[in-house]
Amino acid sequence: MGSLSSFSTGQSNWIELFNGKDLKGWKANENQGSFRVENGILVCSGARGHLFYETDKPFKNFEMVAEIKTAPFANSGIYFHTSFQETGWPERGYEVQVNNTHIGADNYRETKKTGSLYAVRNVYYQVVNDNEWFKMRIKVVENHVEIFVNEVKVVDYVQPEKPWRSEEHKYRLLNKGTFALQAHDEKSTASYKSVKVRRLPDDTKTSMRVDEAWDATVSKLMDTGFPLVDYHVHLKGGLTLEQVKENSLRLGINYGVAPNCGLRFPVTNDISLAAYMDTVKGQPIFRGMQAEGREWVTLFSPEAVAKFDYVFTDAMTFTDSKGRRNRIWIPEEVWVDDKQQFMEQLVSKIEAIFSREPVDIYVNPTVLPNVLMAEYEQLWTKERMERVVKVLADNNIALEINARYKTPNAEMIRMAKRAGIKFTFGTNNTSNELGRLEYCLKMIEECGLTPDDIFMPKPNNQKPVLVKGLPVKITG
Ligand SMILES: [Zn+2]
Repeated sequence: MGSLSSFSTGQSNWIELFNGKDLKGWKANENQGSFRVENGILVCSGARGHLFYETDKPFKNFEMVAEIKTAPFANSGIYFHTSFQETGWPERGYEVQVNNTHIGADNYRETKKTGSLYAVRNVYYQVVNDNEWFKMRIKVVENHVEIFVNEVKVVDYVQPEKPWRSEEHKYRLLNKGTFALQAHDEKSTASYKSVKVRRLPDDTKTSMRVDEAWDATVSKLMDTGFPLVDYHVHLKGGLTLEQVKENSLRLGINYGVAPNCGLRFPVTNDISLAAYMDTVKGQPIFRGMQAEGREWVTLFSPEAVAKFDYVFTDAMTFTDSKGRRNRIWIPEEVWVDDKQQFMEQLVSKIEAIFSREPVDIYVNPTVLPNVLMAEYEQLWTKERMERVVKVLADNNIALEINARYKTPNAEMIRMAKRAGIKFTFGTNNTSNELGRLEYCLKMIEECGLTPDDIFMPKPNNQKPVLVKGLPVKITG
């Protein structure tokens, strides 16, 4: 029935699956009332159900374009290579996620945003807004899946011959089948005004190679919704935004790109901040702010700062008790008269910074000047680590696990986890080589981190800079 009721859209080979009038050609399983046509729009709204397209000829290689609009907190999705099933979440094939602002309910935290190849290659940044029509394009050729949101590519997945899958999701595989649209829950409304598809030749041979070990690592993390994000990337050392995006598609890691913001840095006030925002508008990345030096709090308005997805700072720049400005990554700008005294001063600075400055993340954590790094384990006593953990916990600040410096150590990460602190992964690259978050992945294992231990950027009304505001008075 489905293929007969489809009609041509005027372009060759494209067929429109939704006729704009009724649900002819589609079949809902549970809660059929969750699917209806209103003013020519297919609306998925209400208790969980799936609306399957009926076709006699399964789709294998294809290209699909859907025009979609979400209401706030909507959660929906497009399944492909699936088949009709009476109840539950469709087991066969893949879902392409539609979700801009739904963050889960009860004890379940939903982190997967629009464009995710659900729980296989997740997109954690938000590329489109609620209440705006956007286009989702899905292209599947043999073992290659590409997903575009408003023509921005967010997923490029090559399925290995034998991909890792959990027992629960063992049918989440490419095959052939039909499409389904999702109604997720009572609070969710998603609208589809067009769902068109064209078949692509089924005998295409792709020669795309996969790093199977890496694919398994990523797929395991994605299966549990583990946010795999490198929040600490700078466009320096020759690294370009194009390379960041290419890395992201190839590795399945999401990136947060941050300019350095502060006195004598590229971004120094609201005007240069707005100019920067223009350069990353619509890009498939998170937008981070690295707050530099202690005087950054005097340079920007809270509203401008809140345009970033998150703000981070470190304790590598501070003025010591003798009035000397330390920049502890530069050997010539470090003053260590006495090791223990230096440590006491550093810990006090960390406490002062993170009790006062409205940031989301403490980055480059516990890094010491080169001259002290060999004694890291002795100098970072349990008592000192506890003081740092306390100020972060008290102020709801996340702790970066830094891939380049390999800090903090496992002991402090466990301590922070017990205190309820969230973690981020970050590289803080100095060259165009971003690596694969090796130290962070090791710490997940070693410290038993779970998806819920990982930081996600806060919604606007919860951003520290708007909740706490910027401090008026500052001291070194
Ligand atoms: Zn940095």
